[in-house]
Amino acid sequence: MDRAIPRRDFLNGAAMAIGTAMLPGGLQRAEPGSGEPQDRPGYCPPAATGLRGSHPGSFEVAHSLRDQTFWKQAPPTKPLPETYDLVVVGGGISGLAAAHFYREKSGGGAKILILENHDDFGGHAKRNEFHLGGKLQLLNGGTMLIDSPTPYSAVAAGLMKKLGIDAAALDKKCTDHGFYASRGLGSGVFFDRETFGADRLLKAPRGMDEESADRQDAGTRWREFLSGAPLTDRARRDILRIETESIDYMPDQLSAEKKDRLSRMSYKDFLLKVVKADPGAVAFYQTRTNGEWGVGIDAEPALDCWALGLPGFQGLKLDLGSAPHMSYTAAGYANGGSDRFHFPDGNASIARLLVRNLLPAAVPGSSAEDVVTAEVDYGRLDRPESAIRIRLNSTAVRVRNAPGSGKGSERAGVEVVYASGSELFSVRAGACVLACWNMAIPYLCPELPERQKEALHYLVKVPLVYTSVALRNWSAFEKLGMASFYCPGAYWNSVGLNWPVNIGQYRSPRSPEEPILLHLSRTPCKPGLPAREQHKAGRMELLVTPFEAFERKIREQLTRMLSSGAFHAASDIEAITVNRWPHGYGYEYNPLFDPDWAEGQAPHVIGRQRFGRIAIANSDSGATAYTDVAIDQAYRAVSELDAV
Ligand SMILES: Cc1cc2nc3c(=O)[nH]c(=O)nc-3n(C[C@H](O)[C@H](O)[C@H](O)COP(=O)(O)OP(=O)(O)OC[C@H]3O[C@@H](n4cnc5c(N)ncnc54)[C@H](O)[C@@H]3O)c2cc1C
Repeated sequence: MDRAIPRRDFLNGAAMAIGTAMLPGGLQRAEPGSGEPQDRPGYCPPAATGLRGSHPGSFEVAHSLRDQTFWKQAPPTKPLPETYDLVVVGGGISGLAAAHFYREKSGGGAKILILENHDDFGGHAKRNEFHLGGKLQLLNGGTMLIDSPTPYSAVAAGLMKKLGIDAAALDKKCTDHGFYASRGLGSGVFFDRETFGADRLLKAPRGMDEESADRQDAGTRWREFLSGAPLTDRARRDILRIETESIDYMPDQLSAEKKDRLSRMSYKDFLLKVVKADPGAVAFYQTRTNGEWGVGIDAEPALDCWALGLPGFQGLKLDLGSAPHMSYTAAGYANGGSDRFHFPDGNASIARLLVRNLLPAAVPGSSAEDVVTAEVDYGRLDRPESAIRIRLNSTAVRVRNAPGSGKGSERAGVEVVYASGSELFSVRAGACVLACWNMAIPYLCPELPERQKEALHYLVKVPLVYTSVALRNWSAFEKLGMASFYCPGAYWNSVGLNWPVNIGQYRSPRSPEEPILLHLSRTPCKPGLPAREQHKAGRMELLVTPFEAFERKIREQLTRMLSSGAFHAASDIEAITVNRWPHGYGYEYNPLFDPDWAEGQAPHVIGRQRFGRIAIANSDSGATAYTDVAIDQAYRAVSELDAV
């Protein structure tokens, strides 16, 4: 358990010159464009292991702005001679899309600077890259896949098309959906002793995770599964009833009345008070909603859980489709959803395609398939001769409308000050799109109207951790006959072998003797509190958890889960990347805790109002956490600038 795992901050034998983590210590750095960390040979953030996501060095400046200590110790601002048509704050999908739309609307040739506080572009759409046994293996460090509750809008679908992405066709061609099943691997459930009294790993009944689970023969499958579970007889009986029986628990009500009632109670209360299930049975379902919303069933409406296919509603005969008082996600999925496709690095491939679109020389290649293995030339992102520049490791700290603001770089309408290393620089531009996390905007633009700042503060992002673990082989999984696991009470709530996707030159592992990547996720939350309070508590937890603590939890849980398959953490784990997202999913209103806002009064709508030559994008300004929304909001923000 205590064997050291080499921190693989080396790529092809050369030390990766990220440098960011050192910057707050006072490293003096030359002016942008000449010797920035991103220009150094071997710079490749996706290959770094250890603590990633909101990595050390990326957030300290923003936190000191929030704590009102930043300006007390700030060095003098150095005005740069650079002027732009547009400065974009935030190099996530929304910021990159905003640059694309602005350039397109301006007829090409616009001068655009994108500032990003992390050491890589993409925002949540980050890539984890490993070279195992000489072979490239990829996982998403954040944004997992093209999958949204609603079909992509004409704008978002149009951008996908321009980038060469046809999600449905790629999924058909590249995803080997039946791969693990063809080798006899299904899903499993890990009961942990802290929650259930004993550690026990069981094969899940077939169909448990599927929305349209085939309930034929379900009784036999569930009985067999439950007989091995560390649960009381009462809890077993109740789970069997919830999963397999069609009981109308609200017999005197019409479908619309039932839906209304279900939208006003949590799924936990539905199970306890309506279904009258034993608390031991309810514990089995507690974290079924964590992956989707970052909180458990205590804080999610029963109706939303129905839309996501959770059990217990079979006998209620609810009319299909959405209903009033549902969350964006649940209402959307109740009506269908978008096409789905998982690139091996998740939606980082979309970010890389956007960068290729803006700066073709930085991301060689020509298709959505070859982008997966393309090597990004970070040194080309911020060249003085380029109309478009992407400047990493740079945190915007001040954005204001300049007196006499107007359109065009000659009439420099905004001034943007950003911190890079231990220095402050300012640039001027015709306009600015803030595609950063919306709740940070009041600190960047203190002149905003108080009502707008208050609205922006309302949005509390959902904390999450996505961890990629490189394994020397996956024979333990093969022996156990399981590829993915639901762990209702454990530290890591879900664990799964990497997606079998073969695209372009990229090949996923085929044999259990080959190295593979494992994906683990944790959604820190505090059941019992209102959802936004749970998110705040979870964020605090993430900020004080060191890498070593995550690492120990990984080794311990995998050992407890997999040792009967002869898994040995000390020899089987090769490397770990913990993607920590204290500010993860954009806040989506929760019908249990948020009012039904009147038209135009929702905090995200008040918060995203244009302020002079400053417009606001990011998926936050669409009050949800999806890539299509990030793109739509970029388009809206750019269009608002057009109108001035
Ligand atoms: C773990 C995780 C999994 C997800 N999975 C999915 C999924 O499967 N499908 C899906 O559609 N969506 C998913 N999402 C939602 C995801 O947030 C959106 O899809 C999309 O990537 C958001 O893009 P964005 O540009 O709006 O925001 P972000 O990706 O958050 O980008 C904003 C960027 O602005 C930067 N920034 C903030 N402040 C400053 C500053 N002052 N100066 C400079 N830069 C700044 C931030 O650091 C960040 O890099 C997931 C999110 C997370 C966290």
